[in-house]
Amino acid sequence: MLSNTFRLIAVFSTLFLTTLLTTTPSFADNASKITILHTNDNHGRFWHNRRGEYGMSARKTLIDKIRKEKQAAGSVVLVLSGGDINTGVPESDIQDAEPDFVGMKAIGYDAMAIGNHEFDNPMEVLKKQQSWVDFPFLSANIYDKKTGKRLFKPYKIFNKNGLKIAVLGLTTDDTARVGNPEYLAGIEFRSPIEEAKKLVPELRQQADIVIAVTHMGHYQNGNRGINAPGDVAMARAVKGIDVIIGGHSQEPVCMDLNAIEKYDEKFAPGKECVPDLQNGTWIMQAYEWGKYVGQADLVVSKEGIKLDNYALIPVNLKIKKKDANGKTVKDAKGKTVRVYATEEITENAALKALLTPFQEKGQAGLNVVLGKTDGKLEGDRKKVRFIPTNLGYLIAEAQRSKVNADVAVMNSGGIRDSIKKGDITYKDILKTQPFGNTVCSIQLKGKELLSYLEFAASQPIDSGAYAQFAGVDIEIKENKLIKLTIAGKEIAPERNYKLALNSYLASGGDGYPKMTGKPGFINTGFVDADVLREFIKAKSPIAVADYAPTNVKRD
Ligand SMILES: [Zn+2]
Repeated sequence: MLSNTFRLIAVFSTLFLTTLLTTTPSFADNASKITILHTNDNHGRFWHNRRGEYGMSARKTLIDKIRKEKQAAGSVVLVLSGGDINTGVPESDIQDAEPDFVGMKAIGYDAMAIGNHEFDNPMEVLKKQQSWVDFPFLSANIYDKKTGKRLFKPYKIFNKNGLKIAVLGLTTDDTARVGNPEYLAGIEFRSPIEEAKKLVPELRQQADIVIAVTHMGHYQNGNRGINAPGDVAMARAVKGIDVIIGGHSQEPVCMDLNAIEKYDEKFAPGKECVPDLQNGTWIMQAYEWGKYVGQADLVVSKEGIKLDNYALIPVNLKIKKKDANGKTVKDAKGKTVRVYATEEITENAALKALLTPFQEKGQAGLNVVLGKTDGKLEGDRKKVRFIPTNLGYLIAEAQRSKVNADVAVMNSGGIRDSIKKGDITYKDILKTQPFGNTVCSIQLKGKELLSYLEFAASQPIDSGAYAQFAGVDIEIKENKLIKLTIAGKEIAPERNYKLALNSYLASGGDGYPKMTGKPGFINTGFVDADVLREFIKAKSPIAVADYAPTNVKRD
């Protein structure tokens, strides 16, 4: 049997033949070496987590080391991001992701694709973010509706060591569908594939290697469900892209060589990763949050592009410690012991010093008063799992209004604390909604919505599944839904309705019907606590009487 390494080399060599036949001739006189280092979907993770995993300071140490080694060996090094720097961690969100962009500048990123979450704030914020860095935010398919002109730089051509490298940026056209409509008026997201079809032939004339840095998602075998076409569809439709550095689907794109068009389920930190190859185009993605840095070592010559080596390098990721018998080791307190999956990467001291004030400011910011309530918002476990409460209603209402849905269902198990009378801080909100679930929506026929609500209404008291409702007037007897109206009207079985729910329920949590992947399903990526924060800020001062859950009558 072949060793894994050997098989990998064998595969790369075979694939080299494929690429060789499909890429257009290069302009480079001699073979040049290029190393692409890449991350994507940072989502506010400038700081390491509680276990010391990932974080930009350690990422910098790793990237600096590889850059130094590769440059010494005559390689050109390019650091790229597949976008979605914004949204996901309160400490970052309340500072408009400034620490994340400051970190990217310090690490020395060369270019970034614009992700859908770059539009979670008004356009002025994105412009401010561009001013914090010295590399371009690229996207060729985002247009100003009025002028019909591109809003961003479509590509950049780098000239390094005589090697001309074109980097083309593309953004999912799902942004219009999943983003905040408030900030998207006047912006048109055209098909990235059509845009690439126009630009790639031009770029091939000007460059030795054409890289697309995208935020479009990688879907196995192009099976994208309800999502807009992603990297696989583009590689199949557009000739001449050598490498796609992607993002959005938040996957480690590591393929199983023994299966057709399937991810390697055995991939884990420190294991080998074979990126996808479609129609002569390599497709790479480094999961999310800076958990990994992707490293692609390529050789560019007249014969084409050859991938010499590829790896997803874990950034201080930890795994459960196992004893000699393969059993998980626990400490004296019974807590699972974790160890680094590969060797520890020390944090870059200068970057850590640069980011520390942001982390401190972010944490202090969680204590800033953002609103007030004239009474207690009830989230105590002994209440919220037994009766409809004002906080249950308010959270459901915040999610309903965020996605402009007819109805919202909130599981009581996702409400972990009350908000006391008086001032409200972000910290109070995070105590209430600590899980970082995201707000989702799904379009349902009246009859489908009715059966979903019947299920929600039937969930017993004293369980996390016990439901809180907004947008609907209902009567429940002995855990059976007996009466229901939406905006004063009976539900119309064939009419379309929009249901708001969180990602936990959508994925089938607490036994709820699974909604992810169904037609009409959208995960907006908006974090529940942030949605609640926005809602409270907008509606403050909160009059608890306005949120009395009189819409639900239960025996
Ligand atoms: Zn995204």
